[in-house]
Amino acid sequence: MLYRSERKLIITVLKKMVEVGLVINTSGNVSIKINNHFLITPSGASYNALLPADILVMDHNKQIIEGELLPSSETDLHYSLYENRSDIKAIVHTHSLYATAVSTITDELPAIHYQITDLGGPVPVAPYETFGSPELAAVVVDKIAGMNAVLMQNHGAVTIGGSLEVALQRSILLEWIASLYLISLQSGQPTFIDNRKLQNVVQQKQKYLTLRQNKKK
Ligand code: 13P
Ligand code: ZN
Repeated sequence: MLYRSERKLIITVLKKMVEVGLVINTSGNVSIKINNHFLITPSGASYNALLPADILVMDHNKQIIEGELLPSSETDLHYSLYENRSDIKAIVHTHSLYATAVSTITDELPAIHYQITDLGGPVPVAPYETFGSPELAAVVVDKIAGMNAVLMQNHGAVTIGGSLEVALQRSILLEWIASLYLISLQSGQPTFIDNRKLQNVVQQKQKYLTLRQNKKK
């Protein structure tokens, strides 16, 4: 079996997604890119029952190398993102509750918290298109420029990363920021952080990253 440890990682991440409430039933999908191969979850599969052998290995021509099940209906979306940005090594797509709710009321999740810088800044909402369609792939690719997350109107969320763990962390963070936004909206008139102050956050994060790395040496 090709990529045994990576398949196991995908199963672990799927379980975590269920555990933290990012997915219900069979919604969402996950993929990782290794060299010229792509590992992707099967379509309509229940995450709790998935085995490593159920994960599909595909090549750059979308041909199945290993796996018996149907690849995710969002395979085109995943491929388009990888094609568009060489830094993307993993993708997590969910229908998580708060992120999806935000996708129905605005065209951007604003900077309600400084941690939104981990997502690349205020998160754009791609216009509604049918799930699994090339049109959906196109609008998401359009909105992902410079970002680590995109919302899909009346559908859900996509996060990307240099690893699956990072893409998952971003999904969890996006859901938390979306919930914060909705709670704040219901409680009063929230304030937002402007772009200049977000830049300061990026610099501060870099500073502390360097300080932590120096401490380890
Ligand atoms: P799949 O089960 O085919 O991956 O589809 C789920 C989904 O979220 C479609 O957008
Ligand atoms: Zn979906």
